[in-house]
Amino acid sequence: MTIATLPLRGPNTVQMPPVGVGTWRMGEDPAQASAEVAALHRALDLGFTHFDTAEMYGEGGAEEVLGRAIAGHDREGLFLCSKVYPWNAGRRDMVAACEASLARLGTDRIDLYLLHWPGGVPFAETLEAAGQLLDEGKIAAFGVSNFDTEGLQGLIDAGQADLIAVNQVMHNIPNRGPEHDLFPLMKRHDIAAVAYCPLEIAPTRRIDGIEEIAETEGLSVAQLALAWHMTRGLAVPIPKSSTPAHVEELWTAANHRLSAETLAAIDARAPAPDRPVPLQVR
Ligand code: NAP
Repeated sequence: MTIATLPLRGPNTVQMPPVGVGTWRMGEDPAQASAEVAALHRALDLGFTHFDTAEMYGEGGAEEVLGRAIAGHDREGLFLCSKVYPWNAGRRDMVAACEASLARLGTDRIDLYLLHWPGGVPFAETLEAAGQLLDEGKIAAFGVSNFDTEGLQGLIDAGQADLIAVNQVMHNIPNRGPEHDLFPLMKRHDIAAVAYCPLEIAPTRRIDGIEEIAETEGLSVAQLALAWHMTRGLAVPIPKSSTPAHVEELWTAANHRLSAETLAAIDARAPAPDRPVPLQVR
């Protein structure tokens, strides 16, 4: 893939690949683990290098599946993101949680470590732990997830946003709320956007005329959704698939750019909102 990587703010020089692969729902059923590893192997073979996981997914099971998949691969060519539960984001707990994630992933560095969603631990404590993990090289960059405009503005106003490289939020064709005020705020503060649930296939399919638009581009609706993110470049999409054939379709879509006419046709049927809307979370 020739798409440029995205430099992340923070104390280190870190480049985020422009598309990733999600792992939510993996690692939950041991009987599925080999198939999940096979799907991730297919992703690696095709050229995906960015993988998204969390201590929450399968209570560590997804990190273990990802660890199995990347074992033996050149670690330097990979970009791994994981996330800490909000209740583990305290000064000492977050360091322990990160070390447990590192062990399950079988690596000594997480490239991007996110607070999974806003919680009750004072953010100053989370920042202290993030600073320690950055100093020790256990994480290369730090960020947050599921922070809406108000929540992020609160951190900015409190002078607590300097270390935040990324905000990972739900963003897809039927859910374009972040485009109204969250993404512009993030852009002003040099905070990169990662789009979770980037495909949102069933609600996307329900948009009148979307199947025909996909057909015109020679894509499935899932592929259209991914190509829409890749063409616009507003947020780095992290689609998930446990099916090798779907992973192949995603790779094709990640390298496909939509025409201006297609983007306009999608805008006409699923416009970005013209007023603030609550951030959707899953
Ligand atoms: P998604 O990527 O939008 O959609 C995943 C679904 O699409 C799966 O059911 C998958 O089924 C299907 N799919 C994938 N490729 C397909 C294709 N080519 N054709 C048809 N179906 C296809 O949703 P998501 O997994 O919820 O979100 C992506 C990732 O974002 C997660 O895995 C996770 O890493 C992250 N996430 C983060 C948060 C957060 O709070 N930060 C929340 C949710 C998700 P198959 O597996 O059968 O292909």
